[in-house]
Amino acid sequence: MSDAATMTTDLAPIVDTLAAAQRARGQLVIRGGGSVLERLPPTDAEVLSTAELTGVIDHRPEDLVITVRAGTPVEELSALLATHGQECPIEPLAGHGSTVGGRLATALAGPRQLQAGRVRDWVLRVRLVTGDGRVVTAGGVTVKDVTGYDLCRLATGSWGTVGVIAEVTLKLRPIPTTSAWFTTDRPASRVLAELYRPAAVVSTDEGLFVRLEEHPDDVVAQAAAVGLVAAVAPTLPTTARAAVDPSRLAELTSWAQAAAIPYAGFVGVGVCLLDGDPDALVAAGARAAELGGRLLVLDAGATTLPMRPPPEDPMSERVRAALDPQQILLDVRRPR
Ligand SMILES: Cc1cc2nc3c(=O)[nH]c(=O)nc-3n(C[C@H](O)[C@H](O)[C@H](O)COP(=O)(O)OP(=O)(O)OC[C@H]3O[C@@H](n4cnc5c(N)ncnc54)[C@H](O)[C@@H]3O)c2cc1C
Repeated sequence: MSDAATMTTDLAPIVDTLAAAQRARGQLVIRGGGSVLERLPPTDAEVLSTAELTGVIDHRPEDLVITVRAGTPVEELSALLATHGQECPIEPLAGHGSTVGGRLATALAGPRQLQAGRVRDWVLRVRLVTGDGRVVTAGGVTVKDVTGYDLCRLATGSWGTVGVIAEVTLKLRPIPTTSAWFTTDRPASRVLAELYRPAAVVSTDEGLFVRLEEHPDDVVAQAAAVGLVAAVAPTLPTTARAAVDPSRLAELTSWAQAAAIPYAGFVGVGVCLLDGDPDALVAAGARAAELGGRLLVLDAGATTLPMRPPPEDPMSERVRAALDPQQILLDVRRPR
């Protein structure tokens, strides 16, 4: 499968927009579905939308591989794949209309990361228009296609700071025959140790929830062996997201329990979603930092807090300097 056959989008309008911004020394903010951007304070930067960049380029169900344009809504992709009994488990938790490009750019983990892995584990190839207007294809459908720096991984989680993700090739898998949520009073660490590859274990202020995804007989047998009771999916907070080492998650969820704020900690993943007023979120950010992690505010409207970006690190700065030397692309996480 050659690049020419699978990467077919006309990227001239994006290259032209970047060139114009360079000449004008302006700033651009890349917008996918806007599900995160719309919750952040407005900016003066010109919007570079991927709304026209939609559709499937190549789907090979038998090879479990699909190539799509990055502005394709994740929900549309999931619906199409479902007709083939397939999925790519990168669906967003919140944010209707979020796009494949936005999903890669934010690379936020969901509870299913416990079994499914990270967003970047499902990305085989990316076509990127860098901040300085170069069109770069990175990655490959087979491991031997990959040479040089792994730009796929650099683009994943880049929050729109290195270039416009234009096209994405994703790995697929068959949809599990059964998916079901359960609850239990038992400690999370015991449940995690006793279950075979649970899809998600979520510790919340309303109890512990477990998601099993496999053959129906195995789901019933596992649930009975560990004493799980059928439940509906837990409600997940949406205001902020703390990330700590998975071994420190219980310390963060105990803190949230004591502080009486709604939380959902993804056991084994190290991510905790939180709601709360600005004071509670400032305290949560401080607690996450004590535990060696950090907190990202995802709904500024509700809190008036900045997003709290990760500290600058020399490697990311060098990558950004190489791909967007004029810093045309706005980092929405940083105070403006
Ligand atoms: C409050 C909230 C909490 C969430 N928490 C989680 C969570 O914990 N786990 C989870 O799995 N999902 C979570 N999501 C859902 C999901 O991660 C995002 O909503 C979604 O992926 C963003 O996609 P979008 O197209 O709407 O991006 P936008 O909101 O349009 O953009 C988000 C960022 O991605 C950049 N971007 C967008 N498209 C591109 C592109 N093509 N190329 C380069 N950069 C691009 C933008 O510049 C911006 O920095 C959350 C959503 C919300 C609103």
